[in-house]
Amino acid sequence: MKILVINAGSSSLKYQLIDMTTEAVLAKGNCERIGIGGLITHKTADGTTIKEEADFPTHTEAFQKLVELLTTGEHAVVKDLAEISAIGHRIVQGGKYFSESVLVTEDVINKIENLSDLAPLHNPAHVLAIRACQKVFPEDTPQVVVFDTAFHQTMPPKAYMYGLPYEYYEKYQVRKYGFHGTSHRFVTGRLGELTGWDMETKKIVTCHLGNGSSVAAVKYGKCVDTSMGFTPLDGLEMGTRSGAVDPSVVLFLMKHEKLNPDQMNDLLNKKSGFLGMSGKTSDSRDLIADANQGSQRSQIAIDMFRYQIKKYIGSYAAAMGGIDAVVFTGGIGENSDELRHDVCVDMEFLGIELDDPMNTELNHKEGRISKDGSKVEVWIVPTNEELLIARDTRDLVSK
Ligand code: ADP
Repeated sequence: MKILVINAGSSSLKYQLIDMTTEAVLAKGNCERIGIGGLITHKTADGTTIKEEADFPTHTEAFQKLVELLTTGEHAVVKDLAEISAIGHRIVQGGKYFSESVLVTEDVINKIENLSDLAPLHNPAHVLAIRACQKVFPEDTPQVVVFDTAFHQTMPPKAYMYGLPYEYYEKYQVRKYGFHGTSHRFVTGRLGELTGWDMETKKIVTCHLGNGSSVAAVKYGKCVDTSMGFTPLDGLEMGTRSGAVDPSVVLFLMKHEKLNPDQMNDLLNKKSGFLGMSGKTSDSRDLIADANQGSQRSQIAIDMFRYQIKKYIGSYAAAMGGIDAVVFTGGIGENSDELRHDVCVDMEFLGIELDDPMNTELNHKEGRISKDGSKVEVWIVPTNEELLIARDTRDLVSK
């Protein structure tokens, strides 16, 4: 069975074609500049990269092009579109409607569309992609949607409510949703495979640290709390997002800098975090390089990030009544031994004892990096959201 995984944005469309027998990626790529031009970068398993300018007025033309590259020419990976058994879409916001992945129906599309207010940059684009697939693929190709928010739907009200007038929860569903759920769920499942643990008896903290970052408390296999909130802006400082700030700061800056809501939104989402702090870069490697060259601002941004992760681990240990494991994933979590060291240092009181040589040896890899006998195990588990989307899609269409 071959499954096409789609991650669509308003002007881009990332894809992977996965062979479910081996779980190998047959081809992957990205269509960019949809609506304003068009560029496709397509890579196949044999190492070929094709980069072509194209004309993508809408997502439909982008899908037509990717289908052409998948099925024709010397680098074709399938003979016929009918070989693609199903399509799985990553969806950012599933609101209260979706606590698991589902097959696409008209009702499902309508609900994703109705949630656009909560994810204006993402949900409308997801709907465009689903509709485009309906046009480009054979009519009987099933589509499945997998939500970033679904894994967090098990949070109790005490974790997801805000201390605001209750009417705004009723009127607008203002509450914490949490994001990166597919990644937190993937690494939780993978940790179970690696340790042989029954995850329904374990308490773990999963740290997804990349351009966007979030931490989740997973108790007995279910998410009970997470750092992102109503939108992905909350929680940790990120590449360009501020993370949590006192809400009064937002009002203060809007007033004094004369910013309207869109400008303030831009400031918080695109000009803050590592970029805003350093004044130079949103990329954690460049930030570290800048700090090493003496930038105080970049050093503070690094220290803040690591301090905040440490605090989340402590608070989630308290919330769950202890922890059995901490998992690091995402571009920074998987690749920065320095960060993992700084987060885990002086945490013996909680039972966390990092094995520093192992932490360095296993950098970029998968494995346990805590000492033998550490009460809390610390793991690096590379995430693979596309694979989880493909597995959910396979499971739903096989039913
Ligand atoms: P996204 O959230 O967009 O999926 P990634 O998970 O790929 O992003 O993470 C990207 C981040 O990972 C960047 O900030 C990058 O600098 C960081 N990163 C990658 N390798 C390293 C490394 N060796 N040390 C520190 N940070 C790294």
